[in-house]
Amino acid sequence: MRLALLGKPGAGKGTQGVRLARHFGVPLISTGELLRHRAYTDGAAAGELAELLARGELVPDDLVVSVVNESLAASGAGGYVIDGFPRTLSQARHAAAPTLDAVVHLAVPDDVALSRVAERAGAGRADDARRDATARRLRSFHDDTEPVLELYRRRGILTTVDGTQPPEQVTEAILQALPVPRASG
Ligand code: ADP
Repeated sequence: MRLALLGKPGAGKGTQGVRLARHFGVPLISTGELLRHRAYTDGAAAGELAELLARGELVPDDLVVSVVNESLAASGAGGYVIDGFPRTLSQARHAAAPTLDAVVHLAVPDDVALSRVAERAGAGRADDARRDATARRLRSFHDDTEPVLELYRRRGILTTVDGTQPPEQVTEAILQALPVPRASG
């Protein structure tokens, strides 16, 4: 199972990513986590990356694709769950982008997205604590990521699930909607 999770900030990608990766017994690749890690460890380029992340701006495609592929190369051949990729049409069409069997859109209204991010704003992420950054991320979802959803809708691999339900119900809805046999156990 090669599955991507997309949604607004606060839609629940992180939570569902962990649950789905456990269900399928595959690695979870979170582009946000990988980039935040790199922003602390990447020597000379780290400050610039941290600043981009804190402002809620998209990271350049080539960097994102290479970070994703590095992580995939280390993860074996059994499939994966990717949280937060591809976020732009150019990432989806990037020659080196990994192949996907299914794309899950966790749908929540803007006001739910904003209030969930505001609730977790004290938890340590610089971009969650800045209202301008949150607004930018939400705008980028509408401008950059909605066309990606449309692309996968046309390809017939998009599943949209109501992300306002409790986490267990969201997971159940995703597993029921996926166009593949459910794993046992
Ligand atoms: P959220 O979806 O709540 O914004 P993420 O942890 O998925 O949180 O992403 C945090 C930040 O990491 C984004 O605002 C962006 O700067 C960067 N990022 C993550 N994934 C991508 C991507 N596919 N392309 C470009 N930037 C990304």
